[in-house]
Parts: sequence; structure tokens; C-alpha cells
Amino acid sequence: MASQRQVIVIGGGIVGCTTAYYLSHHPSYSPETTTITLLEASVNGAAQGASGKAGGLVAKWAYPRELVDISFEEHKRLAEMHDGAGKWGWRFTGCGTWEGRGEVFNESDEPGTGVGKGGERRSLEKTLGLDSSSTSSKSTRRAKGLPDDLTWVKESLTSSYTPMAPTNDTAQVHPYLFTTSMLELAKEKGVQFVAAKATAIDIPSTHVIVTAGAWSPYILPSLPISATRAHSVTVITPPDVEIAPYVLFTEIIMPTDGRTRSKGRPEVVSPEIYPRPLPTKEIYICGPGDSLKLPETVDEVAVDPEACEAIYKQVASISPEVRGGTVEKRQACYLPVVRGGGGPIVGELKSVKGLIIGAGHTCWGICNAPGTARALSELVMDGEIKCADLKRLDPSRYFKL
Ligand SMILES: Cc1cc2nc3c(=O)[nH]c(=O)nc-3n(C[C@H](O)[C@H](O)[C@H](O)COP(=O)(O)OP(=O)(O)OC[C@H]3O[C@@H](n4cnc5c(N)ncnc54)[C@H](O)[C@@H]3O)c2cc1C
Repeated sequence: MASQRQVIVIGGGIVGCTTAYYLSHHPSYSPETTTITLLEASVNGAAQGASGKAGGLVAKWAYPRELVDISFEEHKRLAEMHDGAGKWGWRFTGCGTWEGRGEVFNESDEPGTGVGKGGERRSLEKTLGLDSSSTSSKSTRRAKGLPDDLTWVKESLTSSYTPMAPTNDTAQVHPYLFTTSMLELAKEKGVQFVAAKATAIDIPSTHVIVTAGAWSPYILPSLPISATRAHSVTVITPPDVEIAPYVLFTEIIMPTDGRTRSKGRPEVVSPEIYPRPLPTKEIYICGPGDSLKLPETVDEVAVDPEACEAIYKQVASISPEVRGGTVEKRQACYLPVVRGGGGPIVGELKSVKGLIIGAGHTCWGICNAPGTARALSELVMDGEIKCADLKRLDPSRYFKL
């Protein structure tokens, strides 16, 4: 008997892999009636783009609200069901803004800005999700506000630490491990993973789901999604060094003692810092975005070693624990940004039945992937999105086809 549904998912990032998981775990799914094929253009497997190289914050205070509300609960459920703590480093974490100054820590210290060559500086916009009262508390600015266990940034260099939200409102995952775990769980249920680049939507199917992140307009050119490149590094810390879980959005005044690049006005930099428990104890650091053009495929993304060095040195200038660690990964990836703001774009095109979009997740795609995936799986299996009202994210609000 021919399958009633042939579903093609294009893109093996977090949105595509999690969508494959939700489709294959939907109550009405059976491999006899539904075939699911996930296409990924990279020759290196899933999660080679932003989904493998992001920070991994999962926050109740992220945006857009309608997607965050289901996604946060789904993250918790997935972690409970599949040992997320052991498999993808799921844990609740402290999170706050840290302000202070860096110190010179060796002769050749040239901190730089962290913006990659060939691009203009862009913000990753994660703190746009905060309500202003949580960032501008005068009382916490008066005192330093450093929690007792946040010892891996120097107290003497700290001006202030301001928590962004209660600890049980902020969690984290290791994005690569989460994404590949979703894929493995989907494959166990019969999802086919195919290493191939979709060049046009002409594959026999009843449903095509475009989850190609920043590359989605290469498939559907009218999609209003642009790409911002950002660099990151991971630092392996010695096993005996305790690194308490705090994600920090920093504002660091870099030293200006004549040995550094900033000889005039002090340079202020804003790397984000994410300690992680898995796969080994590591600290992930990412820098600002830039505008370098998106290449044809994820395997051709250019990494500027100087941008990586700069963000490492910025954080090393406030943390002896980072200085004592070993830089393991130097990498870059592209954030998918909806032009004109808003997003992500989630839903079926009115004009082309069966053509579904799950793209443009900006700086919150790791957080919002489970809600997106659940909604898209309902669209395919039930014919409508039931878990939330996602009208604001409907493709018809963003573009015509
Ligand atoms: C530095 C940085 C830090 C971030 N930190 C966080 C964070 O802490 N929390 C958070 O929630 N979000 C964070 N994000 C955002 C998050 O990483 C993205 O929103 C999310 O990864 C997007 O996932 P995606 O699956 O849509 O896209 P991607 O991860 O880009 O995946 C798309 C996939 O589609 C594939 N593809 C493209 N074209 C084709 C084709 N034609 N055929 C087949 N496959 C194709 C690509 O190869 C790629 O694997 C961060 C982003 C950056 C850049």
C-alpha cells in the first residue's frame, strides 16, 4: 500500500531534526502510512550550521511569546523523557549581564573586536527579549551583585552582575548534541536521513517542509530572510576547576595601557559566555555578528581566526579560569534573520498546499525549535496547528508566493 503522506524536510539543523522527531512521534504516525525523509546539504552530517555552533540558551523570557510558551515546556518534557541531562547537557542555569573591565594578561594581548574580516558589525539581539526592568535595576548596580558561586570571573574586575530572570526560567542545552539526539530518535522511528542538497522543490511528496535556516531563500527566493555571521570558540577547562553554571552577557571595557590596540578611548566589547557540562567541561564564547555574504553551503562557511582569537582574549581578560583552559574549537555560523524584524516564519503557504515553512528563527532557534516542530508536525498530521495560536508567524504575513 502506498503511503498516504510523503513528507520531505529540507535542512538538518535543529528545526529540521526536531521536526522529524515530532512527526515520527506524533500519535497518528506509522511508517506504513507516512514516510519522512530529511535532506541535509552538508557532507558532514546534521547540525553543521548555527544549530551546532550556537550558545544553547533556552529561556522563558525569549521571544516570540507564543512560541516560547510551548517550546520551554517541550524542552523540559524532552529532557525528562530522553535523559536530556546525560545526552545533551540539559540543565537550569543562572543568567545575567556582567559589566566590568578586562586586565592585560600577557605581553602580546591584542584583544580586537571579534567582528570577522569582510563584514560590518551586527548585534545578535538576544537581550531584546528582556523587559527593561530586569536590566536596569539601580539597586543591583549599586552593589556588584555577584553570586557567591560565580567565581570564574574576577570580582576585582566586576562593576556589576544583574540577573536577567529567576534560575528556573533559564536553561541550556548543548545545541549540537540536542540536534543530533533528535535526529537519532527520529531515525529509530523510521525517518530517512539523506545527505543531499535540495535544489528545487520537485521531489514527489505530499508535504515539503523548508527548514534550511539562513539558506531558506536559496530554496524559496521570496522568503525575507537574511544571514548574519558570528564567530565562537570553545575552551576546555581543567577537570578540577569548578565552573558554576552562569550564562553571561558581558560588557567589558578593554584595557588601554599602551600594549593593546585601544590606545585612545577604551574599547567596549560584548562577548556572550556559556559554561557547559558536556561533552567535556567547556566554556563556549561567541562574539558579535557581521555581514559577510552567506556561501552556497554550510561546508563553505569562512572562519576568521583573528575574530576567534579576539573573543577568546576578551573573556580571558576577565577570567583566569578561561586563561587556564585550552581553546578547542574556532568556528563561525550564520544566524537566520527575518528582514524587517519579527519571525520566525512558521506555517503553510496559502497558495501552495503542502508547502510549509519553519525558518528565520533569529537568535532564539535553539530555544524555539521544539515548539516550532510540534506545530509543524500537527500541521502535517492533523491538518492544523493545535498547540498554540501562531497566526502572527504565518508565512502570509511575511511574503507572497
Ligand atoms: C553565535 C550564535 C549563538 C546563538 N545562540 C543561541 C542560543 O543561545 N539560544 C537560541 O535559542 N538560539 C541561539 N542562536 C540561534 C540559533 O542557532 C538558530 O536560530 C538556529 O540554529 C537555526 O536553526 P535552523 O535549523 O533554522 O538553521 P541551521 O542550523 O542553519 O540549519 C539549516 C540546515 O539546512 C541545511 N540546508 C541548507 N540548504 C539546504 C538545501 N538546499 N538542501 C538540504 N539542506 C540544506 C544547512 O546545511 C543546515 O544544516 C545562536 C546563533 C548564533 C549564530
